[in-house]
Amino acid sequence: MNRLADKVAMITGAGRGIGAAIALAFAREGAAVVLAELDLDMAQQTAKQIENACAANGVSGARVRAVQTDVTLSASVQHAVGEAEHAFGKIDVLVNNAGINVFCDPLTMTDDDWRRCFAVDLDGVWNGCRAVLPGMVERRAGSIVNIASTHSFKIIPGCFPYPVAKHGVIGLTRALGIEYAPRNVRVNAIAPGYIETQLTLDWWNGQADPVAAKQATLDLQPMGRIGQPEEVAMTAVFLASDEAPFINASCITVDGGRSALYHD
Ligand code: NDP
Repeated sequence: MNRLADKVAMITGAGRGIGAAIALAFAREGAAVVLAELDLDMAQQTAKQIENACAANGVSGARVRAVQTDVTLSASVQHAVGEAEHAFGKIDVLVNNAGINVFCDPLTMTDDDWRRCFAVDLDGVWNGCRAVLPGMVERRAGSIVNIASTHSFKIIPGCFPYPVAKHGVIGLTRALGIEYAPRNVRVNAIAPGYIETQLTLDWWNGQADPVAAKQATLDLQPMGRIGQPEEVAMTAVFLASDEAPFINASCITVDGGRSALYHD
């Protein structure tokens, strides 16, 4: 507890899944958290759950806000940052978590599929960084954590153009990490493998045989299971905290070793 005391964190796409787990973990560690989420109702429910979970764990008076945010629109992200700063005075930590799966065959993909993927998965990350960097640079302190993917360095046929955008997230992380290192702003990424969220359930359910699809995924895992959102959240706490002061422009993989495996 208190590894993030006195810090203010904004997490995009925090209404559910990995983002919600990160918001909860941050609040438990004493941070004020802002859930910047497309679906305001869901974000408000999650905010309430976080307050209740913190209270049940002896962290009273958790500071949690939900703000309707569309990461594809820079004005919307700027507005969320303004709301966060109005509520809590500053933003110390930004987690660019919002993301969508767009898995297509390259030559049958529509222009809209391409734009939709990049708008959320890459532009959304840049919109977040651009909105918080001026304040972080001015205060000479900040930590940005971008949720990338093992698709940032591995390719699965038929999953185009998601890995292209996620490769870009690593490029953005490295470029901004170097750009703002002299100002003591760290920019890092986390590359999750398969994590049990709605995104993954939707993907299994979209397959001809969802049960077989899930089993096929499990069969690929060195640890015999996929990850939980909380396991990504623990890494985000570390990168956001003062325990990682010399980790910058890096990416930590959280995939149970799957991406290290050459083949079965
Ligand atoms: P979920 O779909 O469960 O949650 C994503 C959240 O982001 C949803 O609440 C969604 O809201 C929100 N969101 C979507 N579009 C926008 C937007 N334009 N503006 C603001 N919020 C938005 O996904 P996960 O928790 O699984 O994924 C989180 C991140 O982790 C993503 O970047 C994903 O690519 C990455 N990742 C996930 C993996 C996994 O196995 N789950 C593996 C590797 C990476 P709404 O429901 O209203 O659309």
